[in-house]
Amino acid sequence: MSVPLYQLPEQQPSVWQPTSVEEAMQLKHKWGDNSVLISGGTWLRTRWENGLSSPPQHLISLARIPALAGLTIDNLGHVHIGPALCLADLMDNELMRQRCGLLVQACSEIAAPSVRNLSSIGGNVMTRTGDLIPVLLVMDAQVVWSDGQKERELPLKEWLEGPHFTSYEMMTRIVVPTSEPEQVSAEMADKGHSYEFYLKVGRREAFTPSVVTVAGSLRIEADGTLAAIALSAGGGSAVPARFKELEDAVTGKLLSKEVLQTLHKGVSDDFDAVADDYAGVAYRKMTAANLIVSECYKAWRKGGGAYAPRS
Ligand SMILES: Cc1cc2nc3c(=O)[nH]c(=O)nc-3n(C[C@H](O)[C@H](O)[C@H](O)COP(=O)(O)OP(=O)(O)OC[C@H]3O[C@@H](n4cnc5c(N)ncnc54)[C@H](O)[C@@H]3O)c2cc1C
Repeated sequence: MSVPLYQLPEQQPSVWQPTSVEEAMQLKHKWGDNSVLISGGTWLRTRWENGLSSPPQHLISLARIPALAGLTIDNLGHVHIGPALCLADLMDNELMRQRCGLLVQACSEIAAPSVRNLSSIGGNVMTRTGDLIPVLLVMDAQVVWSDGQKERELPLKEWLEGPHFTSYEMMTRIVVPTSEPEQVSAEMADKGHSYEFYLKVGRREAFTPSVVTVAGSLRIEADGTLAAIALSAGGGSAVPARFKELEDAVTGKLLSKEVLQTLHKGVSDDFDAVADDYAGVAYRKMTAANLIVSECYKAWRKGGGAYAPRS
């Protein structure tokens, strides 16, 4: 139930606008639990309005910290994304379109343009249930944290699995390994092909929270062997996760009907779905498994390898 504005505390929060990570962390230490870091504020505001948490006395805005708004590529092909960048800017960026197309697609399916002008990628990850997380997981993203003095880097997968974060640290970068966009040519086809996908199922076509979100990336050799596969699922209140054991079990095998059946069962068994008022666990597991297997089937067909089905 939404809380009408007149029931919010009379004393409105103070908004602090630090210009460096160090200054932001000093403010966090100063105000402690009476403060929160705020990026676009779209997630926080929804929680306050729905009575899920109260606005603290101090909002520490990240909007004026240039170090959180960079977007660069290093000589290893790793794209470094500032967590304060909003989804609309990421979608418009040429480097993102060339190197992180799946992430751009995922951004475009979040909320509506007005929300995407404010929502940040860092805020989306910090919610632990954001729709960008499944894509970042299959891209093997790393997250960089700072306590204001020193930085440390952690795989996103590990951060999601454990209590690796204190409120006296902030996210300063998301690092995504990428490679040159694949050139499609007859010669490349002889060497196999890559396929990636992102699918979000909601309760309507657009402007909808996700019921199930899946992402995947496959590398298939010319003879149909699954050289590499990365799969993830999330949606609703589920914390998105990879299917590492399942991926290991099928890597190196010929992508066949049996492998598709193994993938279907594995996703259905391992997806840690969470029920809510709109969809139960069984529905979400089945949906995730169906989506992932249908995409793997498309990847198989696309290659047209020795064992790809004709119809
Ligand atoms: C109408 C509407 C529709 C939405 N639809 C979707 C949707 O379809 N899919 C989806 O995934 N989400 C959706 N959201 C949720 C939200 O908009 C997104 O998750 C958004 O990306 C959050 O970013 P933000 O910058 O607004 O986060 P904020 O609200 O500013 O912050 C979110 C959390 O992250 C923390 N935080 C932010 N940046 C940092 C940082 N650098 N370091 C440490 N902590 C940080 C904050 O303290 C807070 O706890 C929707 C929200 C609204 C209002």
